[in-house]
Amino acid sequence: MHSGKQYDVAVIGAGVFGVWIAYQLNRAGRSVLLLDAYGPGNSRASSGGESRIMRLGYGPDEIYTRSAQRSLQLWQELFAGVASPSPLFHRTGVLWLAREPDAYCEATLNTLKRVGARAERLTRNELGERFPQLNFERIDWAVFEPDAGVLMARRAVQAVAAAARANGVDYLEEAVAGPITSRNLRTTSGTEIAAQHLVFACGPWLPKIFPDLLAERIHVTRQEVFFVGTPPGNNLFKAPHLPTWVDFNDFVYALPDVDGRGFKIAIDAHGPEFDPDHGQRIVSAELTNAVREYLAQRVPALANSPFTETRVCQYENTSNGDFLLDRHPALENVWLAGGGSGHGFKHGPAVGEYVTAMIAGTRVAEPRFSLATKERVQERKVY
Ligand SMILES: Cc1cc2nc3c(=O)[nH]c(=O)nc-3n(C[C@H](O)[C@H](O)[C@H](O)COP(=O)(O)OP(=O)(O)OC[C@H]3O[C@@H](n4cnc5c(N)ncnc54)[C@H](O)[C@@H]3O)c2cc1C
Repeated sequence: MHSGKQYDVAVIGAGVFGVWIAYQLNRAGRSVLLLDAYGPGNSRASSGGESRIMRLGYGPDEIYTRSAQRSLQLWQELFAGVASPSPLFHRTGVLWLAREPDAYCEATLNTLKRVGARAERLTRNELGERFPQLNFERIDWAVFEPDAGVLMARRAVQAVAAAARANGVDYLEEAVAGPITSRNLRTTSGTEIAAQHLVFACGPWLPKIFPDLLAERIHVTRQEVFFVGTPPGNNLFKAPHLPTWVDFNDFVYALPDVDGRGFKIAIDAHGPEFDPDHGQRIVSAELTNAVREYLAQRVPALANSPFTETRVCQYENTSNGDFLLDRHPALENVWLAGGGSGHGFKHGPAVGEYVTAMIAGTRVAEPRFSLATKERVQERKVY
């Protein structure tokens, strides 16, 4: 960064939203400064995990299915130009475990077909034959998305940041001091930032930076992730033998062993409120036991396998789970980009395109991404 340089846009936050916004703005011809307090894909960031599910299915919400479809294409285009020792996307397929009746999975299948995405309906018998590693008790059928898979999250964010920098985006590893009350920006070490537009893509930190506006509109919750060791010399828990799968009726999702990290499993229900700077990232006995119980039931071969790694991360939830991609209501030229709500990672590329077009004034705002649709919630339900 050149001291005193005037930028078209400063993007604060180099998580998946920020790096893709910076990348797309640069491609649209803007001069861009990207800042992060801890670095792209750092271990406190919501994007800092090992892996994230890249699915197209979203029940009846075609807006997210189309966004994921577009994003998958852009992720793959970017990865094609990256020299990486191991893939940044693994096409494991994603399996949706369904009950009878299951309106959400029915809608998922219909939406996938409507947008031209490949999707199969599997019967309980077919599931048992194809995936004998899993016990399908209480499952009646499933949707299989063969083109979906797993993004290597932290490395993918770093790859986008590196591509953006190679294209001319300047990067500064400094923290912006909140709360923000005017469009004049200064980092905690005193660097003044001069930019026509400011985009705050600070994920779970947004409520700290804009407390009056967002403290009750974005709730940050503690989420725990477990990696389970698989038997030696056994490929049954790797793709293509085992796909990624979601069992949202039981608030559980799981990923096959990718890159030798182990079989990954997590409970998707929202945990207690969490501070992304100071929260301790050690998993709880309560969720450790809950995961053990679930494994014993659904993946009996791993019931007694050791946990090889654990992680504590956080969701930044809006009242309705929709992203917040909007202009600040009082500060002209300040933009808010966040509210990933536990499903945002895959959409980074489409979010980058959306924010770039909004700043250019070349697209109509999507009401679901507006601040106006985000309710203030004081008492948050833990479930
Ligand atoms: C356990 C877990 C599992 C998930 N699974 C999936 C999944 O399978 N699929 C999926 O699509 N999504 C998933 N998500 C959601 C997804 O990871 C998030 O929605 C997404 O990563 C949010 O990205 P972000 O850029 O908004 O925020 P972040 O990644 O948190 O980035 C914000 C950045 O802002 C920086 N920052 C903050 N404050 C300042 C400041 N004052 N000055 C400078 N920099 C600052 C931080 O250092 C950070 O790097 C999951 C999330 C979690 C926690």
